[in-house]
Parts: sequence; structure tokens; C-alpha cells
Amino acid sequence: MLKKFINIMFLSCCEATLLMEKRCAEDISPKENFRLSLHIRMCKWCRIYQEKLEILDGILKRKLFQDGKTNINQYDIQLLKDKIIKNLNI
Ligand SMILES: [Zn+2]
Repeated sequence: MLKKFINIMFLSCCEATLLMEKRCAEDISPKENFRLSLHIRMCKWCRIYQEKLEILDGILKRKLFQDGKTNINQYDIQLLKDKIIKNLNI
């Protein structure tokens, strides 16, 4: 019973980093957000990863959306998403 509860409530580091990446691209559910927050509070390595991800994401967003314009078209974005999903074997 306790083991089942732990499996439901706590994420692995791999799941946590995937959710962090997902959260940068889109909204995550309140349940995912809660589980991620719980993991980040307990895991030093994922906390560091989260900090570095926020820094990199901020730099990329500033570079990509300078002057309110972006040079990336939707086809390139979809191509990248397909490549990532293929490599993740989802
Ligand atoms: Zn972790």
C-alpha cells in the first residue's frame, strides 16, 4: 500500500526532468505540477537542473523573440518535436 502511494506521488528524476521541459513549452496539469514541486524540493540534482533550465530558457526566449519577431517557422518546430519524440521512443 505504501509502495503504491510512493509510486503515485513521487516522480523519478527522469520523469521530473521531462516534466520540467514540458512545463517550459506548455502548461502542465495541477497534479503534474504538484508531483514535480514535491520532487524538486527533495532532489538536489533536479533543483540544480531546474535552475539551469530556467536560465537557458530565458536566454533562448530573449534571443528568439527579440523585437517581438521570431525567425523559426512552424515547420521547423514540428520537425524538431518529431525528432525528439522519435528519440524518446514515446
Ligand atoms: Zn531528481
